[in-house]
Amino acid sequence: MGAYYDEIEIEDMAWDDEKRVYHYPCPCGDRFEISRKQLKNYEDIATCPSCSLIIRVVYDPLDFEDDPDSEEEDPGSEETEATDDSDSEAFEDAMEKLQISA
Ligand SMILES: [Zn+2]
Repeated sequence: MGAYYDEIEIEDMAWDDEKRVYHYPCPCGDRFEISRKQLKNYEDIATCPSCSLIIRVVYDPLDFEDDPDSEEEDPGSEETEATDDSDSEAFEDAMEKLQISA
């Protein structure tokens, strides 16, 4: 391709914890952005929402391979019920042990 405005190392980009993106200043005054999810999917192009410039992000995909990637895709409602069950079981176990040791 070779149409990048620049190549930037991931270490030189800043992390936005609220938007969960890496960003780097764009000459137009806005900023290039790329999400962890994109990096995990081996995408290395950060785009600026305000102009047509793009940069290539230099990074090691292995660093992002094991990312939990939880917030966006997992609503977590089913897990809550399972946790409740195991909690009450653990409570009963604790009561049994309490009576045995008493
Ligand atoms: Zn721009």
